[in-house]
Amino acid sequence: MYDVVLIRYGEIGIKGKNRGEFEKKLINNINKVLHSNGVETKVQKTFGRMFVPLDNNWEVVKESLQRVFGIVSFSPCFKLPLDIEKAKEAALNDIKGCEGKTFKVNTKRANKDFEYKTYDVNHLIGSHILRNTEDLTVDVKNPDINISVEIRDENIFLFSKTIPAAGGLPVGTNGKGLLLLSGGIDSPVAGYLTMKRGVQIEAIHFHSFPFTSDRAKEKVLDLGRIMAGYGGKVKLHIVHFTEIQTEIKKHCPEDLGITIMRRMMVRIAERLARKRRALALVTGESIGQVASQTLESMFTIENVIKIPVLRPLVAMDKTEIIDLAREIGTYETSILPYEDCCTIFVPKSPKTRPRVVQAESAEEGLDIEALIEKAMENIETIDLFKNR
Ligand code: ATP
Ligand code: MG
Repeated sequence: MYDVVLIRYGEIGIKGKNRGEFEKKLINNINKVLHSNGVETKVQKTFGRMFVPLDNNWEVVKESLQRVFGIVSFSPCFKLPLDIEKAKEAALNDIKGCEGKTFKVNTKRANKDFEYKTYDVNHLIGSHILRNTEDLTVDVKNPDINISVEIRDENIFLFSKTIPAAGGLPVGTNGKGLLLLSGGIDSPVAGYLTMKRGVQIEAIHFHSFPFTSDRAKEKVLDLGRIMAGYGGKVKLHIVHFTEIQTEIKKHCPEDLGITIMRRMMVRIAERLARKRRALALVTGESIGQVASQTLESMFTIENVIKIPVLRPLVAMDKTEIIDLAREIGTYETSILPYEDCCTIFVPKSPKTRPRVVQAESAEEGLDIEALIEKAMENIETIDLFKNR
């Protein structure tokens, strides 16, 4: 029944020469999500506005647009001939599907040749609605429903519903980050929030077969696919981590095992980030959540790398993270019970305040460079796309 969708996007921070790039990326990202949902039509830009033409597919277009960062809100519109009767009819139809008791008609008349003036259009449409509905009244100051009517040279556009979207910035307008993606609840949420600020994400996962099963790996692939629904394709790099973990267990004191393991992870991630031209690592850490996430521990882990580490969840409580995981659709997959490579090697009493000197001396028995190089050589890379 609707003909087109009008898209609104954030204007702040996109003044001047950023604007062109912002719009180009946004259009591209919308087209990609539409395509991945089987919609063949593309975004059109006219009069500085973005539209998606509809073909009896409002529901799937709606679902697609809600996932695209950079869109603030959107409205399904009627695109009508320059005929006031058609506008009256469409307005009445549309308002019947809206919630609220009061309304206002708001006309913009860009076409100065249209036979009715702005005031007359408001009045004609408003009185048609009042005559044909029971409970609605007009409130021009603070209406529940706003009916917008735009009279252009060739058509009238009319809409009354505004659907909030994800906000943020189009993915790809702020460089690339490498997400350390585990099978847990936190890291997919961290990836989502980073993408929301326009950063394109590639992911790295440390896998310790046979200590961790193929199903644990499948779970990570599934999480990557869900994330691909927000930012387009996700490139996932799988690092075979068994040998490193075995070496750590053999040569390092048990209570520093996790710290050393994390130091190895970030060293490898930094190497890969440089190769893939990513400018930051991204993790799902949040202060104090577990032993390896005390501030001291983060300090000692980050000490071995130079690349910035983004931690979008740093100040969030677990319950807030879980709510967001539910909302973005990763929670159900994250809680599947397959073990990850950290849980298997968890010592009975890990050091919660590991110091740099302690970690350095604990690592003395490891041939760090050789282990990193070998891990780098054996990385397996998979392109993940959203499941239909
Ligand atoms: P998550 O729910 O993201 O697994 P967590 O609360 O279980 O987080 P940790 O297991 O301590 O916390 O992991 C902290 C962060 O380290 C994770 O958010 C993730 O970014 C990274 N990480 C942990 N394990 C792996 C892994 N096997 N591969 C890649 N990154 C990992
Ligand atoms: Mg974890």
